[in-house]
Amino acid sequence: MSIHCKDKVVLITGAAKGIGAAACHALGAAGAKLAVSDIDQDAGRALCEALRAAGADAEFFPLDVCDEQQWQHCMETVVASFGQLDGVVNNAGIAVICGPEEESLEGWRRTQTINSDAVFLGSRAAIQAMKSRGGAIVNVSSIEGIVGDPMLPAYNASKGAVRALTKSLALYCADRDYGIRVNSLHPGYVETPLVSGALAKLSEDDANAFATRVVASIPMGRMARAEEIAQGIVFLLSDAASYMTGSELVMDGGYTAR
Ligand code: NAD
Repeated sequence: MSIHCKDKVVLITGAAKGIGAAACHALGAAGAKLAVSDIDQDAGRALCEALRAAGADAEFFPLDVCDEQQWQHCMETVVASFGQLDGVVNNAGIAVICGPEEESLEGWRRTQTINSDAVFLGSRAAIQAMKSRGGAIVNVSSIEGIVGDPMLPAYNASKGAVRALTKSLALYCADRDYGIRVNSLHPGYVETPLVSGALAKLSEDDANAFATRVVASIPMGRMARAEEIAQGIVFLLSDAASYMTGSELVMDGGYTAR
């Protein structure tokens, strides 16, 4: 079976940059119709123009994934616009490098809200929208949902929650014969604005030390390109993954193999 997503309508959150944008390009090339969403409307609309120029069917839907009402409105407009929904990628996320002694409760909660609570909101909306005809949900977790990092306690907790939530949702949908597969994706370090932005908030010495430690921990000796991670998203949404649910797809250059 070849890997394609021909005519599947897929909503991607946090799609304007990084992994989300790469996933849109890969999904467009694989034949999917794209509901591109992001809190950054200018970047989201610019991406849609680029996708359409490349021959994809793409439309932009503004969405702050933390806002319950915006989720409802977004789902209704996506389904009204495309006539169906076949896949949702809960991709939006943030990363703040901060040790447990320096982390504030406010900072901790912000990370949980965007990275974890919003995946619940998106998954709930996706199940409600897709349960009559089936579909697939991809929740973008991280290697940091599997192993710990001393400087990422809030991020670790948020991504671990996504990993466990995904398994619960997969079982729930299978129990009810909804035909919805739910899987988590666990990228290692990827060259995106998320990583460069998190490092930019540190002192030069701390940023260099963090980056050096990370790259030294990757058996393949380099970070991933967003385009490499995008292939995992295409696969999990495609019918080639028809027997996968509740699974973890790890794409990390060997990081968690040690
Ligand atoms: P990125 O910062 O490059 O892009 C994230 C996108 O999410 C941006 O377009 C941003 O505008 C959007 N966004 C942020 N808050 C939002 C909100 N409240 N509502 C809607 N959109 C919002 O990040 P990335 O590196 O592409 O990461 C994408 C996902 O992959 C995240 O969940 C991240 O945790 C995960 N991940 C990233 C890496 C990595 O090394 N880059 C590794 C593992 C997992």
